[in-house]
Amino acid sequence: MNEVILIRFNEIHLKGGNKKYFTKLLFNNIKDALAGLNFKLENIQNRLLVRDFQDKDEIITRLKCVFGVHSISPAVELNNDEQEIKNYVAGLKIDGGFKCNVNRADKSFPIKSNDFAAELGEILLEKNKNAKVDIHNPQTTISVDIRENGKTYVFSELIYAYSGLPLGEYRDGLLLLSGGIDSPVAGFCMAKRGLRQDILHFDSFPYTSKLAKEKVITLAQKIKTFIGARYMYVCSMTKMQEEFHVNCKTEYAINLLRRAMIRVANAICKKFKYKTIVTGESLGQVASQTIESLTSTNAVAEFPVMRPLISFNKDEIIALAKEIGTYETSILPYEDCCTVFLPRNPVIKPKIAEAQLEESKIDYDALLKLVIDNIEVIDLNNI
Ligand code: ATP
Ligand code: MG
Repeated sequence: MNEVILIRFNEIHLKGGNKKYFTKLLFNNIKDALAGLNFKLENIQNRLLVRDFQDKDEIITRLKCVFGVHSISPAVELNNDEQEIKNYVAGLKIDGGFKCNVNRADKSFPIKSNDFAAELGEILLEKNKNAKVDIHNPQTTISVDIRENGKTYVFSELIYAYSGLPLGEYRDGLLLLSGGIDSPVAGFCMAKRGLRQDILHFDSFPYTSKLAKEKVITLAQKIKTFIGARYMYVCSMTKMQEEFHVNCKTEYAINLLRRAMIRVANAICKKFKYKTIVTGESLGQVASQTIESLTSTNAVAEFPVMRPLISFNKDEIIALAKEIGTYETSILPYEDCCTVFLPRNPVIKPKIAEAQLEESKIDYDALLKLVIDNIEVIDLNNI
């Protein structure tokens, strides 16, 4: 009898001919997530299995953060043998209401699921004087999963993970990460759909402090396992913002900054082969997130801009930030480049033609080149 951890996936089952590819991706991502621990990972039909491990709790904690994992159960592994299963179940100690679930994936097992569940229930009742069957609201559910590989897994715990799709092989996304609450959550949400991302942050040193940058590096470290990040690009917007401030209409400052951010992101996507830009914008949250503002930033985007939080309320975003562990860092009170030279009345419905007119007042291309030529690349595996 072996102690194992059973891993289930769900959406991968819908992948038809690509199921093998996605299962392999998940397999490799789990191996990466468990790196440094003792374990063996096996692919049994429609499930993955961890065996030969020591630190069960740590393995479960890490598995819960792997996208594509639907649920996890610590289990014991038996043979598909009626008597062996019955003997094991006879030794279980339970109290109060319970039920037995039998799943017979191995159709050569001679007893039908419901009949076997009833037999096992009888055994449990006999051995546990305080136990009673409760189908609708059981305190304990004993599950018996009889698999095609000749093994049966018995468990009582079902731990849910985030589901979604496994992170892809390549880092296709570029997450625009500020120090705020929203963008780390946006990265998490896109990662849940399998988008592996690296990170781009803009600062405005010395208007923004070194501590503000440190805070974003901390955020990057916190989300890097979720989003599969390796590199963080840091770009200084100082000169550009100074030029906007001196030469352009104040109410357009944020809109111009957003358009500049997207143009820098375009350049990084082209150079490092990212395919999409991710932001934490949510419709109507602030002036720079109205339809007109988003239209103005989209107009300069050369890659699709993904905004997974577009329909989220702030309290929903905060709840997720707390869950993924970024909230406490995000609320540290350091300034962001968006709050530097902040106009008192930012334009709510910017016009593309006006933004272009403002941009024509400065040596835009040279300023953009200055930002791009001075990108700092941080290896998140090496700090
Ligand atoms: P956040 O909480 O993520 O800062 P927010 O609600 O404060 O979002 P904005 O400040 O308007 O909204 O920023 C909108 C989006 O633009 C952010 O979610 C982020 O993706 C991107 N962004 C803003 N500032 C920066 C920055 N300094 N570096 C990188 N991306 C940024
Ligand atoms: Mg912000």
